[in-house]
Amino acid sequence: MSLWLKNVIHGEDSVTIQIVDEYIVKIYRQNDTPIISTEDEVIEGNHSLRVLPSLFNGHTHASMTLFRSYGDDLPLMRWLQEKIWPLENGITEEFVEWGMRLAILEMIKTGTTGFNDMYWHYTACAKVVEEMGIHGVLSGVFVDLFDNNRAKEQQQLNEELYWMTKERFPKYVQFAIGPHAIYTVSENSLRWAAEFTETHQLPLHIHLAETEHEVIECKKQHQGKSPVEYLNSLHLVSPRLKAAHVIHVSDQDRAILSEKQATVIHNPTSNMKLAVGGPFNLPQMLSVGIQPILGTDGAGSNNSLDMFQEMKIAALLQKHAWGDPEVAPANTVWEMATKHAWKQFGYNAGEIAEGKLAEIILVNEKDVSMVPDHNYISNLVYSANGHIVDTTISSGRVLMKHRKVKGEEEIIQEFCKIAKKFVQRKHQNL
Ligand SMILES: [Zn+2]
Repeated sequence: MSLWLKNVIHGEDSVTIQIVDEYIVKIYRQNDTPIISTEDEVIEGNHSLRVLPSLFNGHTHASMTLFRSYGDDLPLMRWLQEKIWPLENGITEEFVEWGMRLAILEMIKTGTTGFNDMYWHYTACAKVVEEMGIHGVLSGVFVDLFDNNRAKEQQQLNEELYWMTKERFPKYVQFAIGPHAIYTVSENSLRWAAEFTETHQLPLHIHLAETEHEVIECKKQHQGKSPVEYLNSLHLVSPRLKAAHVIHVSDQDRAILSEKQATVIHNPTSNMKLAVGGPFNLPQMLSVGIQPILGTDGAGSNNSLDMFQEMKIAALLQKHAWGDPEVAPANTVWEMATKHAWKQFGYNAGEIAEGKLAEIILVNEKDVSMVPDHNYISNLVYSANGHIVDTTISSGRVLMKHRKVKGEEEIIQEFCKIAKKFVQRKHQNL
C-alpha cells in the first residue's frame, strides 16, 4: 500500500509523490502517469498545497508546556527559584506525559516532526513519543551537583535507559546523554558521558556558554579554560556534541567547535526573553564552517514551539544585532530548521527527494500569508506561521490531515485539567 501526495507544488513544478512505508520512493512529474491502486491512501493537493520537508526543533524541554504563561517577565534567577524549581520539585510521570503529549500535538500542528529534548522522567517522555509517532532525540536531565553518589546513580540510570530504549522504544526514540551544563555536572560525570557516547555512538546534549557568568566561573575553576575548552579537554567536543545556546564564545572556541564538527543550536527567543546576554554570533559561526541549527527551548521560556516563529525571530535578531540586513537570509534560516538539523541528528530527511524519509509537510500556498508567491521561502520565514501547515507526515504516516489531528480535542481538554493540578499542587504541598 502506498500513500500518494497528488498534484502538489514542488519548487516550480506540480508533482505527485509516492510514499511507501517510511520513504519517498518516487516523484512523478506532470507528464508521468502513476498507477494508483484503489487501496492506496491519496491526499489531493489540487495544485495549491506545497510539499516541503518538515521542521526539526534542535533544543526543547517539551513537557514544559505545563509552564506556558506561568511566570513570564521575570529575571532568570527569580524565574527559576520562584516559578520553575518549586513546581519541578516532585514532578510526576503523569505531569510529564501530559506536558509531552501537548507539546507533540503543537509540533505536529506547526509542521515539526523531529526534536532534540532534555527533561525529567525519560521513560514517560519516550512512551509519548512512541505513541504519537514523531522523532524524538531524548535525554534525561543528567545532574549530579558534584556529589559522588548522585554521579554514580545517574551514570547507572542512563546506562539502563540506553538499553531499555533499544528494547522498548526502537522506532521513534533516539537515546542521548544529557548532562545539563558544566555548572551542574561533575568533571567525572562529563568524562563518563564522553566515553559512553563514544562507545555507543550517541548524541550528547548540553547547555553551553549560555551566560557570561558561566564563562567567568569556568575560567576560575578550570585553569583559565573557557567552557568549550574545558569540554574539549574532557573529550566531549565531537560530531556527537549537541550544544544549546553557545553565546559567550571566543574565536578560539569557535575554531574548536568547527574543527570537531560539533552541532551548535541557536535559541533566539529564549535568549531574548530571559535576557541572559547575547547575541548569538551566526555570521562568525558560518564563517568558520559551523552550520548552526535552530531550537525553541522549552515553552517555559519561549512560550511557543512553533518553528516558523523561531525562524523569523532568528533572522530578525541577527540583522538587528549586527546592523546588517544581509545577515541570516531567509534561505539560510530555513535550512537551519530543516536540512541541516535533520542531518546533524543522523536522519536521512530534511529534503523532498526520492530515497529520503517521508518527513513532510504540505502548506497552503493560497493562505493569505503566502501570497503573492514572488519568493515562497521568504513567505515561509517572514510572513507565515505554523498555522499554514495543512498536513503533517512523519515516517510515512499522516499525523495531521487538513489541520485535523486525531484525538486533539481530548488531549487539550485533559492537559488543561492536569496543568491546573500541576500549579495548584505548589500551594498545597510546597
Ligand atoms: Zn534549554
